[in-house]
Amino acid sequence: MSSIEFVKLEKVYKGLSDFCAVKGVDLQINEGEFVVFVGPSGCGKSTLLRMIAGLEDISGGELYFGDRCVNDLSPKERGIGMVFQSYALYPHMSVFDNMAFGLTLEKGSRETIKEKVEEVARILQIDHLLDRKPKALSGGQRQRVAIGRAIVRQPNVFLFDEPLSNLDASLRVQMRIEITKLHQRLKTTSIYVTHDQVEAMTMADKIVVLNQGRIMQVGSPLQIYNEPANTFVAGFMGSPTMNFIDVEAKDDQLSLRNGQASRSFPMPFHYSGQATLGIRPEHIELQPQADAIPVETRICVVEHLGNETLLYLTTDLCEQPLVVAVSGETSPEIGSALSIYLPLERCHLFDARGDAVRR
Ligand code: ATP
Repeated sequence: MSSIEFVKLEKVYKGLSDFCAVKGVDLQINEGEFVVFVGPSGCGKSTLLRMIAGLEDISGGELYFGDRCVNDLSPKERGIGMVFQSYALYPHMSVFDNMAFGLTLEKGSRETIKEKVEEVARILQIDHLLDRKPKALSGGQRQRVAIGRAIVRQPNVFLFDEPLSNLDASLRVQMRIEITKLHQRLKTTSIYVTHDQVEAMTMADKIVVLNQGRIMQVGSPLQIYNEPANTFVAGFMGSPTMNFIDVEAKDDQLSLRNGQASRSFPMPFHYSGQATLGIRPEHIELQPQADAIPVETRICVVEHLGNETLLYLTTDLCEQPLVVAVSGETSPEIGSALSIYLPLERCHLFDARGDAVRR
């Protein structure tokens, strides 16, 4: 029952001019999985979540829970618990009543409701706050109440719409870990929408990267990071973002345009034509390497992040500076020359359409 499948799912918002926000999306979400939807603002993450919840009509395709098509099922009948960024608590009700609200609608006995609410409140460590009103709670406590309210009803599926975006950085980390622990305990199928890459990488069993209403890639966090399917995913996931250099590939040779001259290197890809070479900032080396492309650069900006230093380097290979992440503290002189090395085994190659070329 709690596996979910999208078959050519489509959403058109009707208006003066129709807008297609979800364009023929196919996706399989297995029972018990924690799936994270990521993508730039407006890519359709919330629309998809609201379609699963039954809060948006489906314009085309089918949505299945298990083997049942639920396109026309009302939100109430879908067995979904939803947690929003805004918490959406009732301000005039106590924490207890907020959490019990859904259960009272289901007409459970008072004693059972009390037991369930108290048990969930203990798990979320808000049992001492049950008599308070939401305005007397911190942001993190409010979000726990919102999560608790979803959990008490024992839904088949949890939907989280950017639940941590209103919290400060350290609370986000704490709540992120708590939601992960909660999922390990309850094993309820969960779909989580976020802008935050660290949340996506650390929480997901499966990440779905979306852009302009389409799926760009589905995979485990490490697959998405290590084997991005295209330049969009490669550029979107990872911070600082992957470096891209225009190249020409021919007969297993890679040519870099270096000013007027062109240099060639043997490459581990089979592809001929215009292409883009990608390399992550943390994979560029400062020491000479075998099977690496040497590049002469000049340091233009140095950013100290504490645990690592980011060097922005101008080259004649591309207009944008290349970014290199170096562990620890280093204070090189701005304007000085620096030789860097791009290990071929760490390089990605994307064809003229931006799709990854496999080795
Ligand atoms: P964000 O990360 O900014 O919340 P999102 O990925 O969740 O964005 P959606 O809210 O799903 O994006 O919106 C997808 C697209 O659909 C956007 O271009 C948005 O402007 C459009 N859209 C959303 N709701 C409506 C609506 N009710 N009517 C018309 N267009 C809408």
